Amino acid sequence: MKSSINLGKIFGIDLKMNITFLFLLLWVGFSSLFSGASAGAAVTEIVFIIALFVLVVLHELGHALMAKRYGIKTQDITLLPIGGLARLEKMPEDPKQEFFVAIAGPAVNLVIGALLFVGLLLKGFFNQPFSFALLEENLWMQLLTANITLFLFNLIPAFPMDGGRVLRSLLSLRMDPVKATSIAANIGKGAALLIGLAGFFFNPWLVLTAIFIWVGAKSEADSVRIQASIKGLQVQDAMMTRFFQVEGNQSLESVLNLSVQSGQHHIPVTSNGHFLGIIQRQGLLNALQRLGNRAPAYAAIGIEPEGLSPTAPLKDALESMKKTRVQPVIENGQLIGLITLESIQQRMWLDQKMKNSQNPSPDEKTDMV
Ligand SMILES: [Zn+2]
Repeated sequence: MKSSINLGKIFGIDLKMNITFLFLLLWVGFSSLFSGASAGAAVTEIVFIIALFVLVVLHELGHALMAKRYGIKTQDITLLPIGGLARLEKMPEDPKQEFFVAIAGPAVNLVIGALLFVGLLLKGFFNQPFSFALLEENLWMQLLTANITLFLFNLIPAFPMDGGRVLRSLLSLRMDPVKATSIAANIGKGAALLIGLAGFFFNPWLVLTAIFIWVGAKSEADSVRIQASIKGLQVQDAMMTRFFQVEGNQSLESVLNLSVQSGQHHIPVTSNGHFLGIIQRQGLLNALQRLGNRAPAYAAIGIEPEGLSPTAPLKDALESMKKTRVQPVIENGQLIGLITLESIQQRMWLDQKMKNSQNPSPDEKTDMV
């Protein structure tokens, strides 16, 4: 299902809106209508939400344009009901660069906030006696408040908020990045628990935010740990070399038999040793139904990944695994291995076990006495 609507491009970056954001607009409109507000007031509320998200887009652009300075592209910016998300190609590994990319978003809010403040000041808004009614009436004042909230919320020093990245980059200057991330992620989970608890009593929206923070903190910690554990490894360290492959002109029936006998889900197809593509199980069944038992194997090829060199960093394999779940390893045009998420996990798991048995942790040492 397509869950995002394309809104166009800004600075060459795709701007998307998650459909749940549309529900938010409808919800705000209806709930203010049902609470007895006039149609005009409902429209004002929707205008306010849209203005709020313009602020969010500007915030995300702050990150994206700063990242661009370091040569990192942004794939897209998506509007979600809980804020915006700029998907950078990668996060800068240099802590100083990460610091500036992370701080650039909140800095945009700071600048806009200051402009709104000066504007309101010049209009004489702050000369009148303060009242909450006044606050609610003035759209600009509401935007200023929202801006300050965005600024403070994003600077909470917890992953995956900008403040968490700022904290991680500062910690990374004096310790290894895995440890720095795990500290920032744990603070993030703690913050998520507190926010979730508060939301339980006051505002269901906060519960949603808490879940978002918890998941974000965990996935960042996981991904940094994986990156660290495969550092220095090459594709050939984690590839499978025992698997069967079929010739392009072999019959689909024989491919099916081999697949059943071996339990292999991804079947590479070659022609005189040259890699053509990969048959996936569902594709095999579809081709059998459509073309019959005698059709050639190449007719069932579902994906044609470029392939990886055996000496490429394993990190690259993980990156390309986002597109297809299996990658052929090719040397001089010949297929020499297959790499899958499972084979990488297997390698990481074995390395971990080996490390533990070589230098047992203090608890294990006492166990042995
Ligand atoms: Zn941000």
